[in-house]
Amino acid sequence: MNEHPHVPLLTLDTLWFQVAGTICNIACTHCFISCSPKNHSHEMLTLADVENRLAEAKALGVRDYYFTGGEPFMNRDLLPMLEATLKQGPATVLTNGMLLRKEVCGRLREMADRSDCSLDIRVSLDGFDRETHDAIRGPGVWDRVMIGLRNLAEAGINPVITVTEAADGVRTEQGRRRFLELIRAWGFSKPRLKILPLFRIGAEEKRTRAYEDWERLTTPVLTDHDAEVLQCSSSRMVTSKGVFVCPILIETPEARMGDTIGETLRPFQLRYGACHTCWVEGVSCRT
Ligand code: SF4
Ligand code: SF4
Repeated sequence: MNEHPHVPLLTLDTLWFQVAGTICNIACTHCFISCSPKNHSHEMLTLADVENRLAEAKALGVRDYYFTGGEPFMNRDLLPMLEATLKQGPATVLTNGMLLRKEVCGRLREMADRSDCSLDIRVSLDGFDRETHDAIRGPGVWDRVMIGLRNLAEAGINPVITVTEAADGVRTEQGRRRFLELIRAWGFSKPRLKILPLFRIGAEEKRTRAYEDWERLTTPVLTDHDAEVLQCSSSRMVTSKGVFVCPILIETPEARMGDTIGETLRPFQLRYGACHTCWVEGVSCRT
């Protein structure tokens, strides 16, 4: 049997923070890390955790920073964390959009205006309307996201709307156009849309199916060029349990590479079904 390939760390451009751990205010049926209000598998990061890794990242030449969870805005220190981050590089926050209160959006705007680095907000949606979105994310979520989007628009922040392929038809040209129209109608004249594949792990494994044995990478399949597009060749993920190879495998103990970023600067073996999705889809969680 062919061995699974190793991906080298070609450059460390991006650092992720699992800032809310696996704690979320909702429990989406497709969440690849099964986040929920009760999942404390990874705890929230503290401001000191983030500051320590930022200092290390600066010395290592990291260029940009991403904050995810769980729901990042559940972490009370998120804004000071962003403030600290924007002193050394661009930051992006991935959110479900439910906690984007007016005051929060105003502070995000002020922070972005004060910094030379960009601050991006990514809001996740899973359908063209309340019915399809809430079927994945829970009752009442669509309405709260719409309020959050309105608050962003009023603050002059143009978010990236992230949609998974769980939203039926979104990958077709027609579906894409329909989404762009929706985003314009919400007040964003220059719509930004990112479509992501589903990873068949966590809750998604139960909603649809697990990976089959054949859905694994083998050594002859992966070329140097493929390695470049995989985000594990240029990023690492900081969590409360240590530094992991990427944002996708944080529930895989073998994907924990060290306590510090410095301990993770080595190749990683792509043995997992999710790695197959990354390769087939050419996926990157970066904006
Ligand atoms: S997909 Fe995002 S919003 Fe949904 S449960 Fe997971 S972390 Fe929370
Ligand atoms: S899941 Fe994707 S990003 Fe993570 S190690 Fe596998 S190929 Fe790399």
